[in-house]
Amino acid sequence: MRQYRDYLSRTAQMKQRQSDVLLPEGNEGGTMKAMVLDKVSPVEEKPLRLAELPRPVPGSGQIRVRVSACGICHTELDEIEGRVAPSRFPMILGHEVVGMVEELGPGARKFKKGDRAGIAWINWACGKCAFCLKGEENLCDSAKWTGKDADGGYAQYTVVSEDFAYPIPEGFTDVEAAPLLCAGVIGYRALRLSGMEDGKALGLYGFGASAHIVIQVAKYKYPNGRVFVFTRSGQKEHHDLARKLGADWIGATGDTPPQKLNCAIDFTPVGEPVREALRNLEKGGRLVINAIRKATRVPELDYTEHLWHEKEVKSVANVTRRDAREFLPLAAQIPIVPETREFKLEEANEALILLKEGMIRGAGVLTIAE
Ligand SMILES: [Zn+2]
Ligand SMILES: [Zn+2]
Repeated sequence: MRQYRDYLSRTAQMKQRQSDVLLPEGNEGGTMKAMVLDKVSPVEEKPLRLAELPRPVPGSGQIRVRVSACGICHTELDEIEGRVAPSRFPMILGHEVVGMVEELGPGARKFKKGDRAGIAWINWACGKCAFCLKGEENLCDSAKWTGKDADGGYAQYTVVSEDFAYPIPEGFTDVEAAPLLCAGVIGYRALRLSGMEDGKALGLYGFGASAHIVIQVAKYKYPNGRVFVFTRSGQKEHHDLARKLGADWIGATGDTPPQKLNCAIDFTPVGEPVREALRNLEKGGRLVINAIRKATRVPELDYTEHLWHEKEVKSVANVTRRDAREFLPLAAQIPIVPETREFKLEEANEALILLKEGMIRGAGVLTIAE
C-alpha cells in the first residue's frame, strides 16, 4: 500500500514536471510578449505572431527565466515548415535561451534568483529508458524538446526544470552566450563524434552558426590539425569569416580539397553535401551529419566511390546535458568568440527568412527587452 502511495506521489510529481507551462488563473502573474507559431507554414509567409500571453508560473522543481537573448536555429525552420512539427499549437519556439532566474518553483534549489541561466534543446528526459540509462538521453524514447514540446525562448519569460538549465560562464554577454547553447553544444557533440585527432584533416560543409564555433574548438583542441571549409558558392561573408577564424582552405561544395579528409561534419540543410563529403573522405574516414532534417534528398551513392574502404556515416541527434556541461566551460576557456547578428524579438520572422537564405554571418540572436 505504501509503495502504491509512493508511486502515486512520484507520478503526480513527474506529471507536474512534465507540464509545459502552468497558466495562472486570471492575470495576477502578469503578462508577457511572445512570438508564437499557430500552424505549419512556409517561413516566407511570416507565420510567427506577436502575442500577449500570461507569464508562465514555474511548477515543482522548475525555474522561471526572464529571457534576454534567444538564438535562432535552423531547427526553427524545420518546425515552422513542418519537417519537425511542434507537438502542439500555439507553440513558442526557441532553444538557445539566456536570461536571469527570477522565480523559483516549489522545491527548486539549484539556482538563486538573479543567477544567469541558459536553456538548450533538451527540455526533459525520462531517466529510465534504456537510452537514458546508458547516458544517451539525446535518444530518450519520451524526451521533450524546448520550443517543440515545451514553450521556448521567443518570449519575455519561460519556465524549465532546474535540472535542464545551465549556469552561463562569465565573460560572455547574454547575446554571445545564446548561440553556444545549440550551435555550440551540438557542434561540440558533432566534433567529438567525428573522431577528429590532432594532425588530421577535418572538413566542414556549411559555415553558419554551428560551424563557425566548431572551427574555433577544433583549432584550440587540435593545433596541428587542418580545417577545410566548404560553403555554398558565392557566400563571400562566410568565406571571410572562415578565413578570419583560421580555415586552412576554403572552397565550395563540389570542390575537391588539396588532400583527403579524415573526418567531415555536414552542417547543411540539404542532401548533396553528404555525397560530396563521402567522396572526399580518406580511407577509414568518418562523416558526421549535424542536421535534424534535410530539406532535399541525399543523392544516390556509389558504393565504390562513396562508401568502400571502411568509410563511415553517422548522424547527430539532439544533445545531452553532459554535452552542454562540458562545452560551456570549454567555450569560456578557449575562449570562443561567437559572431552574432542581433534582431528584435518582433523581427523573428525576418531573421528566420534571412537564415533560410544563408544571409546571416555567424549566428542570429533575438534580443528581448523587458
Ligand atoms: Zn538548434
Ligand atoms: Zn529516457
